[in-house]
Amino acid sequence: MSETIYQLDNITQRYAGKTVLHLPELSLEGPAIVGLIGPNGSGKSTLMRILGFLQAPTSGEVRYRGRPARPFDPAVRFAVTMLPQEPFLMHRTVAANIAYGLKLRGNGGDLEARIAEALDLVGLDPAAFARRQWYQLSGGEAQRVALAARLALTPRVLLMDEPTARVDEASSQRIQAAALEARRERGTTLVIASHDWEWLYSICDTVLCLFRGQLIGGAKGNLIRGPWEVDDRGSYLRRLNGGQLFRVPPPPADEAVAFLAPEAVALNPLEAGPTGHAHLKGILTRLALEPNHRQLTATIMVGDLALSARLTVERVAEQQLYPGRTVTLSYTPASIRWIGMVDG
Ligand code: ADP
Ligand code: MG
Repeated sequence: MSETIYQLDNITQRYAGKTVLHLPELSLEGPAIVGLIGPNGSGKSTLMRILGFLQAPTSGEVRYRGRPARPFDPAVRFAVTMLPQEPFLMHRTVAANIAYGLKLRGNGGDLEARIAEALDLVGLDPAAFARRQWYQLSGGEAQRVALAARLALTPRVLLMDEPTARVDEASSQRIQAAALEARRERGTTLVIASHDWEWLYSICDTVLCLFRGQLIGGAKGNLIRGPWEVDDRGSYLRRLNGGQLFRVPPPPADEAVAFLAPEAVALNPLEAGPTGHAHLKGILTRLALEPNHRQLTATIMVGDLALSARLTVERVAEQQLYPGRTVTLSYTPASIRWIGMVDG
């Protein structure tokens, strides 16, 4: 059964007078796996801490399952848990680390079984790992133990901040498997922040893009930075590596970044695209199937700029859009949105 887990209204977070997060409205349904993507400094960890009730925003309201909630509220204390970017293990055994949270909650009874179950979930053999000390773990194993300690608490919401940033491929796959299983078997809602969009897209039901503290849409968007130039007809553009011109409407400020939604990009295997559009010639370098199996995200290289387009499976088949093909990419400059600084 689906329900609204979070509802955020008019959230802002300011540090030293600078706004780093501004979300007029956001609602998250669960159970689901929600991805949060964005470059460094875009506000992902700040939003994660607010969703995890580790900090209250400077202003605005967070509702959890229909009720306004704040850090330390009993309603969220045991239900929402966060795996921070650099999780801390106590200087004790793996088993003691996992038992700690369970004991805090008064789950004393079947400790051994709960510890073994949690280790199994993250792919660590309880017989080999439960008695190990914290210093006898690789980076990836330590991350999985920290995850096991959270999963043992069977939270309704599990927030993971860059869970795969510093782990190897095998650990990354186990973390992915554990996330999928928690959602499937326990109805857990996961919110995962990452800048690894391929990894995120492979497991998330929805992905939110954060940029300069603002939500900019639900798919990997195209962000194009200046310098912006004006041609002799007075229209604005960015000169791309290789000489092609990326045309834009007049930018509101020099530092504004152009956002072009992947849905607004059309691909055509022919020389000419639709009239009235801006055109770029590029090479289709890859196609990635989205989890719903109906849409594909295409990556097109134009000079050294990688642009994304979102296409249906049917369209890709019809137009024979396979990687390696030269394509014409079209968009209307009017579909570009400008993203400035929140305080700008
Ligand atoms: P991300 O996780 O996407 O890299 P963060 O949420 O960590 O982004 O940071 C967003 C912005 O807020 C950055 O400019 C960062 O420097 C600033 N920031 C984050 N935490 C603090 C803090 N405790 N005090 C001051 N500035 C902060
Ligand atoms: Mg961060």
